[in-house]
Amino acid sequence: SRESIKGFLKRNLFVLFTVAAVALGVILGFILRPHNLSQREIKYFAFPGELLMRMLQMLVLPLIVSSLVTGISSLDSKASGKMGMRAVVYYMVTTLLAVFIGIVIVIIIQPGKGSRDSPVAKSGNIEPVQAADAFLDLIRNMFPPNLVEACFKQYKTVYKKTVHIRNVTVTLNLTDTLNVTDSSLNMNLSRVLHTIQETVEETVPMSGSSSGVNALGLVVFSMCFGLVIGNMKQQGQALRDFFDCLNEAIMRLVAIIIWYAPVGILFLIAGKIVEMKDLAQVGGQLGMYTVSVIVGLLIHGLFVLPLLFFLVTRKNPYSFIGGLLQALITAFGTSSSSATLPITFRCLEENNRVDKRVTRFVLPVGATINMDGTALYEAVAAIFIAQVNDMDLNFGQILTISITATAASIGAAGIPQAGLVTMVIVLTSVGLPTEDITLIIAVDWFLDRLRTTTNVLGDSLGAGIVEHLSRGELHCQDAEVCNSVLEE
Ligand code: ASP
Repeated sequence: SRESIKGFLKRNLFVLFTVAAVALGVILGFILRPHNLSQREIKYFAFPGELLMRMLQMLVLPLIVSSLVTGISSLDSKASGKMGMRAVVYYMVTTLLAVFIGIVIVIIIQPGKGSRDSPVAKSGNIEPVQAADAFLDLIRNMFPPNLVEACFKQYKTVYKKTVHIRNVTVTLNLTDTLNVTDSSLNMNLSRVLHTIQETVEETVPMSGSSSGVNALGLVVFSMCFGLVIGNMKQQGQALRDFFDCLNEAIMRLVAIIIWYAPVGILFLIAGKIVEMKDLAQVGGQLGMYTVSVIVGLLIHGLFVLPLLFFLVTRKNPYSFIGGLLQALITAFGTSSSSATLPITFRCLEENNRVDKRVTRFVLPVGATINMDGTALYEAVAAIFIAQVNDMDLNFGQILTISITATAASIGAAGIPQAGLVTMVIVLTSVGLPTEDITLIIAVDWFLDRLRTTTNVLGDSLGAGIVEHLSRGELHCQDAEVCNSVLEE
């Protein structure tokens, strides 16, 4: 059995390293915490973690494009249509389930009832962000007029406000108020304007942009492109080979970076523990809110999704999840499902032997639009804020929250704390004060890690489910055979 222990160690080496890295990170973090490092020292200390983030992010863009283009062009259009439908149905069903669980939990636990423990200064609400504009931004982002720009810019409505102060007319550009510093800036601005008695003309939404990869746009483009070159027969061969080869090369880079991942994760976690505020203060309502989100995510991730996986595939969901451990830990370490994408690919293909034609197709889409954890959190947070404001929600409003929470999760990019930003869609849709987002910021970094882990879990189980349902289209019984056929 010595051999078998050796074999086990060899096979699970990376997972063991990664788990050890988390443990060491936590220990190191708590050892350093009492030393009250300065912000600068913390940044230096956490540098190896920052490097991991950068390496992973570096691969995301070519990975999304090459995997989607090859994934879709290697299927005939009927097969990709069917597979796409299955993925979309899975995304919708699981996201709505997540929202439902969140709503039930937050209504049972009632974290926001009682008098509010941290009053937020109410100010004349200058915030013009509209749910409708956020929806339009979602659709705008699907069709980037400039692909190169889409690699580093997203569309975001900005607001132009014309103000008359005495007899001077001033035009103000209001940027995204959800950016925390912007938000306080805007509130202060609002106070100033109130004291000088301005009159305001209309606030007009204008097209603007914010930095960050427009993954949604690239996904839509790559899918269409893959579909087209898939149908180009012989003529498209050169392009198909090109993207296939690109994809293979990126995955080889992933195989190298994976050696560094445990080190990066260690420092990401240790750095955060050193940096975080004293958690003892997170009591009362905020504590109960945190518990509600955690309970909801655990129910969804550990029971509901595995049950669904089992019902569809009749395979053991927990051994499937075991193969994903590294991706899940990376998601927790980076709080970004897109940065985790390279590792998710590897776990699914290498450990769980999921057909590459499926992973290439569904993972980039999943990482961009399927976010169960984020949807659940949006619903819990919105209802929590309603409870804190003593606002009773009727059935229609709860329904509105479910729909907008789903939209907010689709719209959220797979980057740290994106969900906090898209919360505004949910809050404005039922008339809740958006400045109350400040109530939950203190714990968001932690909840973000957990919801990102849930997001990655949902995408991965989805790949397993879609693969199972698509066996017929894939024309082969065994994924391993498929992969080797594909590699030839
Ligand atoms: N950080 C999350 C993700 O990357 C998105 C969110 O903020 O909810 O999946």
